[in-house]
Amino acid sequence: MINILFSARDDLWNEYRAPLQAALEANNLSVDLSREHDPASVDYIVFAPNGPVSDFSDFTRCKAALGLWAGVETIVDNPTLSMPLARMVDHGLTQGMVEWVVGHTLRHHLGMDRHILVQDGTWSEEFPPLASQRPVTVLGLGTLGAACGQALAALGFPLTGWSRTPKNIEGLACTAGDDGLHDALHDAEILILLLPHTPQTESILDARTLGLLPAGAVIINPGRGALIDDDALLDALDSGQIGHATLDTFRSEPLPPEHPYWNDSKVTVTPHIASTTRPETAAQVIAENVKRGEAGEPLLHLVDRNAGY
Ligand code: NDP
Repeated sequence: MINILFSARDDLWNEYRAPLQAALEANNLSVDLSREHDPASVDYIVFAPNGPVSDFSDFTRCKAALGLWAGVETIVDNPTLSMPLARMVDHGLTQGMVEWVVGHTLRHHLGMDRHILVQDGTWSEEFPPLASQRPVTVLGLGTLGAACGQALAALGFPLTGWSRTPKNIEGLACTAGDDGLHDALHDAEILILLLPHTPQTESILDARTLGLLPAGAVIINPGRGALIDDDALLDALDSGQIGHATLDTFRSEPLPPEHPYWNDSKVTVTPHIASTTRPETAAQVIAENVKRGEAGEPLLHLVDRNAGY
């Protein structure tokens, strides 16, 4: 019997229990999936941030911690986590992110607000440019950034992507490293952030890098709030250097009611709903990793603890 501890909030247990059990059984894995196990008897921990377990020291025989979230910044530095750590790469999560990013990109590209928010009797025939005339950049070319970049490229946007290590992705002009960032930013009329939060990406959009963008550029941030220096962004919005920011992630969540983003007409706040892990598809990923662990095969989607993501 394989003991799997589910360490996440109550509502997630209700959502995940049946799909996880079904996916594990479909892989012929005989498991005891529970919210309560003696730590020393646990073989795998399925976890989400804010679950009951934050000290992993007593999980002495645990073969892996299998995350339900794509982002791992809240656990990657945990000194008690000695077992391998896998993050979530879920088809449903990726598809949701692609839809959210494409939707918000098209909103700004087409200038939809002009007609959705202002119906004042003025017949103003202003045609938006074609996608081919609107350079877009994605920072982060991992699972989510690459998928979003390719979806936007398929619509005709000239797409530049930036990552830590060099990439070759069909339809995208790829740049990498510190030198590549300048090239990625200088003509980005719409900038999408899909980087993880690490010490290297902390405040990567600050006064200097915001200043590299063309005047009036739009920022779309479903990545992490800490990628942006908030004061620098507010200043850039005031000055017109940035035309609008659509923000899904924040340094403090929920975003406090008094935060200036809420009252800035050039900011759209969405409450970290760009995408989420979908239980049916994510359960397959967890089951596959348990199967691999039991077979002594390499786990999928292992986090590089040194790189921090
Ligand atoms: P991946 O780990 O697959 O990709 C991360 C990308 O960022 C890689 O291309 C990586 O480069 C690049 N990167 C990391 N550090 C640097 C750096 N210092 N300089 C340049 N590039 C860097 O992550 P995902 O695509 O799965 O997810 C991205 C992020 O999206 C998550 O970390 C999370 O923060 C966020 N997220 C937000 C959600 C929401 O609902 N708002 C939902 C899910 C995720 P390289 O390719 O060279 O490794």
